[in-house]
Amino acid sequence: MRKPFIVANWKMHKTVQESVDFVKAIKDHLPDPDKVEVGIAGQAFALYSMHEAAAKSGLRIIAQNAAPQLSGPFTGEISMRGLSQAGVSHVMLGHIERRRLFNETNEAVHQKVETAIMTGLTPIICTDETMVQREMNGEIHYVLKQLQSVLHGVSLDQIRDIIISYEPSWAVGVGQRANTALAEEGCRQIRRMIADIYTYEIADKIRILYGGSVNPKNIQEIMSKPDIDGVLIGRASLDVDNFLAMVNYQQQTK
Ligand code: PEP
Repeated sequence: MRKPFIVANWKMHKTVQESVDFVKAIKDHLPDPDKVEVGIAGQAFALYSMHEAAAKSGLRIIAQNAAPQLSGPFTGEISMRGLSQAGVSHVMLGHIERRRLFNETNEAVHQKVETAIMTGLTPIICTDETMVQREMNGEIHYVLKQLQSVLHGVSLDQIRDIIISYEPSWAVGVGQRANTALAEEGCRQIRRMIADIYTYEIADKIRILYGGSVNPKNIQEIMSKPDIDGVLIGRASLDVDNFLAMVNYQQQTK
């Protein structure tokens, strides 16, 4: 049984104080961590304070990005070793905005995945595609190619804990309605590819998240899909009430 994972991606929003206030406001209203895992990817400068504010709540503190190098003369970069010591458990790698706005390549994401594994952070590997890419091929070849390059050299043991997210560009940050059928289909194809590269057993265990216009109204339907094990939420995660409604989606009346 794959445990649902609900992740907020705050992008470049919220100060340290706002981040800490948010964590304090939600920490006593989170679902049972044995049943649903919840995490927030805040801005790097706020993560340690968020970790302290979250004490014992089970809330996962997540970085939105980090450098592929372990340490050294890389002015302005963020080290994974430092993040890990600051209470961060996961790191998002290759988010669509990193790829499109900062030219992050599959090779760069691949190196970051290796560093995350080395430093004990769990990578959340993000994949994306445009509608044109999807329509040209019918299947999600573009996403599969991204994953093949990024996972190159990742062993059977290492892949077990990795999390993958599928975020089609037409649904991310644009306020469009999430297409639940396409979301499920994308996650299903990624799972099939994991089975092809690794094993059925691994594919059955690995968690695949969907991201793109998730909100309190559609989360229950999205989470009811068999191959969607969690969600990555941008805009709708910035508000305390919305966020609590989404992490407690299992309590919503149908
Ligand atoms: C995201 O950027 O990861 C995302 C899913 O954004 P939104 O929920 O705003 O579409």
